[in-house]
Amino acid sequence: MPLLLVEELTVAFNPQQPVVDAISFAIYPGETFALVGESGSGKSITALSVLRLLPNNAKLSAKTIKLADDNLLAKSEYDLCKIRGRRIGFIFQDPMSSLNPVMTIGSQISEAISIHFILSKDELAATTLKLLQQVEIPHPEQRIKDYPHQLSGGQRQRIMIAMALAGKPDLLIADEPTTSLDVTLQAQIMVLLKNIQHQTGMALWFISHDLALVSSIADRVTVMQKGKIVETGLTDDFFNAPQHPYTQKLLAALP
Ligand code: ADP
Ligand code: MG
Repeated sequence: MPLLLVEELTVAFNPQQPVVDAISFAIYPGETFALVGESGSGKSITALSVLRLLPNNAKLSAKTIKLADDNLLAKSEYDLCKIRGRRIGFIFQDPMSSLNPVMTIGSQISEAISIHFILSKDELAATTLKLLQQVEIPHPEQRIKDYPHQLSGGQRQRIMIAMALAGKPDLLIADEPTTSLDVTLQAQIMVLLKNIQHQTGMALWFISHDLALVSSIADRVTVMQKGKIVETGLTDDFFNAPQHPYTQKLLAALP
């Protein structure tokens, strides 16, 4: 059974021109599912639709959005708040804009944990430290008191990942999580995501315009073009024998 099932999802800001156009896909427990496509193809809007965090002027329609047995389309905003972060974690591109500049990273991680779990002060401190270790921040006992600006960009993205893991989600949505980082840091974050996935068994929905990154992490790849899904396949098949002309064009453009 899929962990996430989306059928016939359409999102439009203007009814004549949907930005996501009747797409269907499934994500299975524990897998790494990559959604790729050029900028503007509708990837982020698709992820935000599942979280139901769309801009107010967006109109969503869908036959199905299910998380395991739960019909997310029927959930109230109150119920969705309990699912976001707890059952579906998410990280976005720019780690600075999401961290509070006047709050230590330790407090921010503790706060993220406290949204989902009731813990004693000691348990909370231990869980915070464990999350910092899980995202491989060196000397976490000292760094816990740091403010975001005292960390490097790569470390800040690690803090965002720690916060996304705070609810112990079954699915982590990572929308261009390394785009603001240089190539070396990108590779390190990819390794980290893979390690965490091995440790936790969670599914990873990796969204990127970068096919080279996708090839290093995905089990399956889905390609979006102008709001439509044009191809889905196992990563090896996708890179060795792309079926759709658009996918062939994307792969031909790889260095
Ligand atoms: P991607 O993540 O693949 O780069 P997006 O999902 O962000 O693409 O955007 C898909 C399309 O939706 C784009 O054409 C974008 O301009 C449009 N769009 C996104 N947000 C808004 C908005 N708030 N109002 C109007 N159009 C939007
Ligand atoms: Mg995007």
